[in-house]
Amino acid sequence: MITLKTLDRQYVNGSVRKSHGREIQVVTSAITGEQIAEGVLGDATDANEAVEAAKRALPAWSATTLDQRRAYLQKLADSFDAHREDMIAGLVEEFGTTTATAGYIVSQSRDWFVFAQKLLTEETFTERIGRATVRKVPVGVAVLITPWNGAGWFIAMKASVALAAGCTVVVKPSERGFWQAQAVLDAFADAGLPDGVVNVVFGKGDPVGNVLTTHPDVAKVSITGSTATGKIIAHNGVDTMKRVTLELGGKSPTVILDDADVSRAVPFAVQAGLFNNGQACIAGTRILVPASRAEEFRQALAEAVGALKVGDPRDPDTVVGPVLDRDQYDRVQHYIRTGIEQGGEVLAGGLGHPDGLEGGNYVRPTLLTATNDRTIAQEEIFGPVIAVITYADEDEAVAIANDSPYGLHAYVATGDTGRGVALARRLQAGRVMVNEIVDAPDAPFGGFKQSGLGREFDRFGLAAYLETQAVFS
Ligand code: NAD
Repeated sequence: MITLKTLDRQYVNGSVRKSHGREIQVVTSAITGEQIAEGVLGDATDANEAVEAAKRALPAWSATTLDQRRAYLQKLADSFDAHREDMIAGLVEEFGTTTATAGYIVSQSRDWFVFAQKLLTEETFTERIGRATVRKVPVGVAVLITPWNGAGWFIAMKASVALAAGCTVVVKPSERGFWQAQAVLDAFADAGLPDGVVNVVFGKGDPVGNVLTTHPDVAKVSITGSTATGKIIAHNGVDTMKRVTLELGGKSPTVILDDADVSRAVPFAVQAGLFNNGQACIAGTRILVPASRAEEFRQALAEAVGALKVGDPRDPDTVVGPVLDRDQYDRVQHYIRTGIEQGGEVLAGGLGHPDGLEGGNYVRPTLLTATNDRTIAQEEIFGPVIAVITYADEDEAVAIANDSPYGLHAYVATGDTGRGVALARRLQAGRVMVNEIVDAPDAPFGGFKQSGLGREFDRFGLAAYLETQAVFS
């Protein structure tokens, strides 16, 4: 009999301790579909104790000098390095992302703590405006709620700037990313920060999330998650007027213009759509092709997606690994079925497992034709399924791209960058990438419309953890 690992660590007030809660969360391998561990979820007691610890630690932490904070952020970067292998293993085995992508995600997670150090200048916190001295002060205890798709990256991104701002934090990772987030918990615990500055509690939205997001001693909540959860959190916070940052869902368009070179536009669109096996908020899951060249682009897209190697994420040749768990597999199948029932033509992939990959949560990367009113073009799927939509002219492309409750990201492929930039200005999306997919941790990130509220990254992210005070003298 195999003994299952028990993941029951909580990190509260400087101690790694067992969860007070008793509810068990089954942790499965994305690769085999089998149970690999048992997660023990926290409860209201864990949540309340974490907030108390963060509240106690706040006065001393917010009074640290910028040099001290920089040194602690560097300790966190070093500790993330030390836990790198466990973080990668969690991402690959539990989440199903490829080893190469996991390595990249973990390196970036560590880098957030280095970037945050650069924000710590005296000018960031004090400036003179007329007769006023304008001070930026930490908002208070910050609750950071994160999703399962690359848990450590989101935790590090939020925690780095919250701590730099002088806030103390309570992190609540997703209950669907236990292994990934327990590795992050260990990195925090080993970094040597003062007790209570960082706390990590595991638990579901109810009760742990609700306790944290209604708690009177919590000043700020930053969540990355679904739009439905973001709305609950905004409601939860209003009575105590919590500051909220909401990074929510997306249904991002990739507009291929009629002057685009097929050999560049197609890999660009496929990469945008299938990063992290399509389990990415920024995925370009609606590809808009011009009617004048629709057949050519559809065929090239179908060939490109059909040729992708789907398989074990530990195999270096794999491009698309499995999705997170059986629920996610079923969700993806549901949407493929719906797309077909609503009249979509399968250009690549389709229902069921890829041949030879019947174990585990492997799905076939799928391209389906659709019009923008179809379910698969309106709802977020969070798997490797892309709707291919034809437009008549540029105005219609803009109208289709913007006809979505979401507005997180957009992509434009064109032979003329100037034309692409002009189009980008007409799109309702927090970020638009023209012809290239770039890492830009220093530019703002966040959504229009129901993709969220507020911006993250760099000084935009830092500002979300600061209050502004003008003192006249
Ligand atoms: P989710 O909304 O189900 O859960 C996100 C987090 O919220 C989890 O930690 C969950 O436990 C917590 N939560 C749920 N109910 C809560 C409540 N009532 N109070 C407090 N916390 C609660 O999302 P998910 O399935 O983990 O992640 C996928 C979603 O996240 C997708 O919609 C995706 O687009 C979105 N996402 C957005 C971004 C972005 O930057 N905009 C990035 C990644 C993922």
